[in-house]
Amino acid sequence: MSVIKQMDEKLANMIAAGEVVERPASIIKELVENSIDAQATIIDVYIKDIGIKEIKVVDNGIGLSKEDAKMAFLRHATSKITKESDLTRINTLGFRGEALAAILSVSKVTLKSRQKNNDGHFVKYVDSKIIDEGVASLNEGTEIIINDLFYNTPARLKYLKTEYSERNALINTFDKIALSNPNIKFSLTIDDKLVKQTLGNNDYYSLISQIYGTNLLKDIKEFEEEFSNIKIKGYLISPHFTRSNKNDITLFVNNRYVRNYNLTEAIIKGYSEFLMTNRFPLAIIFIEMDPYLTDVNIHPQKLTVKLSNESLLSYKLETTIKKILLTKDFKIAENIDIVDKTILKDEKYIKESLDFIYNDQQGTSNKDITFNEQKIPDMEYIGNLASTYLMFQNEKGLYLIDQHAAEERVNYEHYLNSIENFELVELNLLIPKELNITNKDKSFIKENENIFNQFKFYFDDNLNLLTQPNLILENDLDDTIIKMISLIENNEDFDFKVLLNELAKSISCKASIKANYKLSLLEVQSLLERLRQAKNPYTCPHGRPTIIHLTHYQIERMFKRVV
Ligand code: ADP
Ligand code: MG
Repeated sequence: MSVIKQMDEKLANMIAAGEVVERPASIIKELVENSIDAQATIIDVYIKDIGIKEIKVVDNGIGLSKEDAKMAFLRHATSKITKESDLTRINTLGFRGEALAAILSVSKVTLKSRQKNNDGHFVKYVDSKIIDEGVASLNEGTEIIINDLFYNTPARLKYLKTEYSERNALINTFDKIALSNPNIKFSLTIDDKLVKQTLGNNDYYSLISQIYGTNLLKDIKEFEEEFSNIKIKGYLISPHFTRSNKNDITLFVNNRYVRNYNLTEAIIKGYSEFLMTNRFPLAIIFIEMDPYLTDVNIHPQKLTVKLSNESLLSYKLETTIKKILLTKDFKIAENIDIVDKTILKDEKYIKESLDFIYNDQQGTSNKDITFNEQKIPDMEYIGNLASTYLMFQNEKGLYLIDQHAAEERVNYEHYLNSIENFELVELNLLIPKELNITNKDKSFIKENENIFNQFKFYFDDNLNLLTQPNLILENDLDDTIIKMISLIENNEDFDFKVLLNELAKSISCKASIKANYKLSLLEVQSLLERLRQAKNPYTCPHGRPTIIHLTHYQIERMFKRVV
């Protein structure tokens, strides 16, 4: 007797649902993408109780006929693909024809729709069966209501994360879709409160402000690049605004929001010099390329994309971002302030607040402070605070410079410069130097000796050092070797430049004046001059600010002289 049976349709749909409908946010994505495919120009999303109780998406698109309203819920029902060759050149957002069937199998669904010059109709499903249908009154377009999500799959319900993270995922999904469609008017309402709204006026700067808040607008660098038929357009948000995760590094390939590990890492690397460890930038990058070179179907939610020329693209992205961040001026960091990402001040809807950003108070003189001609303004030294911070003043207020961070920046750029323009020369040591390292490190060196040799480190049989590269001071040899080991260990594609950059960072840190050391006036002046000449004087190589500005207005506010 045969034990193999074909799965029934409902079970198959539930399994597919596991892939497509992982959490409430994935439903929003599928429904809104369908509305976009239906040429909607206004899309409103309503959510109750993180989407478990209800998700409603209302659009003004072309609608579905009465027959199609039922067809649409069958597995592999799609109006978007008819033959295999369509698969490679797909321009719509959906095409697996799976989403509605999958959603139906894990929730109760009502669909209302009205096409042009037709009456409206509705159909209501429970347990994947029609329980009611008939005439409905609504505007042209479609309204889909999902109730009681996962009511029949309690295990899935249990695996949902906390309310906070589900809500964040919802808002994030909404953000990405809204950002990729500046011509569509979106709104998001959670528990009867309007959380976000975009204008759909095709103005990207206004869109960014509707999604992230107006503060960001002051410091966005826009760029466009083209190479081998690939177009990159990017909006780089100043590294003064950072996040604790990678969620706001947004990538679109052919206008579709995608995730791609390598490209995301490339963006982070592009920013790395400006960021503290474990802080991540906000950036929006659009890539346009031949759809033949992309494959989005490797992921059931069409989220991950594979590109055929990923490494070249990653390299281009990283270097372009680096170049732009270094050449264009970002302003001096103002005092630290917290701004929410939503129009509502309600705690519940606030995504993680932005770290370290400009004060947005009207009337402060922030807007005047651009140092296009001169990165650091003329100012008078008025003393030091705790032998650590140098204080300056001018007509625009008070400036504090962290002497260690500033010196680190200056030294870092100096080392980087000499590393870039220097030829690595091998120096013989008079007596073989015994390294202060563990046996484990020694065997690691033995296995990777060729890499060390490339850097002009040669060893004798006992792994004592015979030669060293000219750039490293003798006192730094142990540290350098240890740093190299950890870099090589953590990085399969070990890169010369990365090591040199890391070395420059650690050497410059060690060589810099520490805090709690009182500088002479001459030293202060020399430090300020060298900082003025730095390419990026505003942060140390680890991304911490070197200089902070407090305006007169801000000081007066602190003393309540003004309100
Ligand atoms: P896919 O989007 O992959 O085609 P779906 O299951 O998401 O599959 O949708 C099935 C079909 O239902 C779509 O191909 C489309 O014809 C129709 N449809 C879904 N949502 C809408 C909508 N909001 N407006 C008009 N048609 C829709
Ligand atoms: Mg779809």
